[in-house]
Amino acid sequence: MKKPRNEKETGKIVLPGELIGTSEEFIPKKGTFEDRGSIYAASTGYVRINAKERSIAVEPVTNIPPQLAVGDIVVGQVTDMKESVALVEIAGIKGRGERAIVNAAGAAIHVSNVKDAYVKDLSYEFAPFDIVKGRVLDLRNMRLSTVNKELGVMKAYCGNCRTVLKRENDKLKCPNCKRTETRKMSSDYGTGII
Ligand code: ZN
Repeated sequence: MKKPRNEKETGKIVLPGELIGTSEEFIPKKGTFEDRGSIYAASTGYVRINAKERSIAVEPVTNIPPQLAVGDIVVGQVTDMKESVALVEIAGIKGRGERAIVNAAGAAIHVSNVKDAYVKDLSYEFAPFDIVKGRVLDLRNMRLSTVNKELGVMKAYCGNCRTVLKRENDKLKCPNCKRTETRKMSSDYGTGII
């Protein structure tokens, strides 16, 4: 069998069954298998080459979904409204694709973290089914903040007929039943940009 391309660098992602080396070059270690002098990846992962012991291994990545961190910008859906918090189910982290998140319990936006102004009634800022963009404030209580121009509601539905509301200056209007609603809107409302 032909010798593989001369890839000595670590960090390359390979798929199961991909040829990663030969037994003349390397001692096959974890995450690999050898067949007739060729070494293949046994799982999806990063190739790790130890030059000193001339060994090759594959470190799996499939079971390492992204972890949320303080400061991350996340997008999620409002699932419930309490008097002082909006409950949000986080769906994704900005810049890390649509992969499931390992530590995504329900998050909450407290009335004090909505905007840079006093919030009298949280139901004027969020409603169930809203898609919101927020920043992670802390992981223990999974609190989110929408205090910032680009943070807040990205998409909202009419409380009357469930049609997607259209932005009209500072308000949201239902193109179907003409109902007007308010939200703590993101400056990206309606753009779909996270
Ligand atoms: Zn409507």
